[in-house]
Amino acid sequence: MINEIAPHRFDNSYIPDTTPGDHDFIFMYRDKSLLLKNSGDEIELPRKKDLPEITAATELLFLFTLDTIPCFLVSDALPIDRDGFIFKELGFFRTTRRREIAWTGITGFQLKIWYGQNRYCGSCGAGMKRKSDERALQCPDCSMVIYPKISPAIIVAILCNDKILLARNVNFPARWYSLIAGYIDIGESVEEAVAREVKEEVGLNVRNIRYIKSQSWPLSGSMMLGFVAEADATQPVVVDEKEIAEAKWFSRGNLPEHPPNVSISGELIEKFEKGEL
Ligand SMILES: [Zn+2]
Repeated sequence: MINEIAPHRFDNSYIPDTTPGDHDFIFMYRDKSLLLKNSGDEIELPRKKDLPEITAATELLFLFTLDTIPCFLVSDALPIDRDGFIFKELGFFRTTRRREIAWTGITGFQLKIWYGQNRYCGSCGAGMKRKSDERALQCPDCSMVIYPKISPAIIVAILCNDKILLARNVNFPARWYSLIAGYIDIGESVEEAVAREVKEEVGLNVRNIRYIKSQSWPLSGSMMLGFVAEADATQPVVVDEKEIAEAKWFSRGNLPEHPPNVSISGELIEKFEKGEL
């Protein structure tokens, strides 16, 4: 999966009051693109020393650490338009072999969006301030503290008689199938969310719901919780037609186009294909 970047190490510890050094990595975004150094097909994260455009007046926010190198976000993109640099659309994370750049690039983007959407207190409207001791924002007037928003969601591989149910979302390209997924709603357990989403989207009752693994998905701020569940062969598949256009049972060796294993959906489908589910 995209978050598995060994031998590189991603450390999300928040380091208070740290100031960027010349060799620290700089994350600068323009819309949904990340500034990278490039030479031919090679890409690298820029370091502070590479960007003389950064001055004492530039606001830099500590993000996280990649290997041993602190990473900083430039709050407002600077005009950088010269050879050797490129703003690369974040979709590159799906195909690049530089997984450590892809993973930190999308995780930094999650924080950039969070900071940008929380300039003002949602309770009293005052301007929010960064807390000095943790990754959080605090209102100077009413003291409300907010943390990065992470939305829990379930994703489930539904099995029956050695087949897996794959569904085509109404927004997917033709012949592209994936697993049933959805956000957990208020007042329900994770297992109840699995049962509800499956019932709503493909009309099946499932049993033996088992947790497999999870994946943070920074682009939507989601925490994907991966499950496997069993359905009864006698039940008809009835798609909701709002989110799901089509859903069918597939056997090993005969799977349609599906997400690659950068995502937990791709990994669960791959596990089924290998007989591990
Ligand atoms: Zn407030």
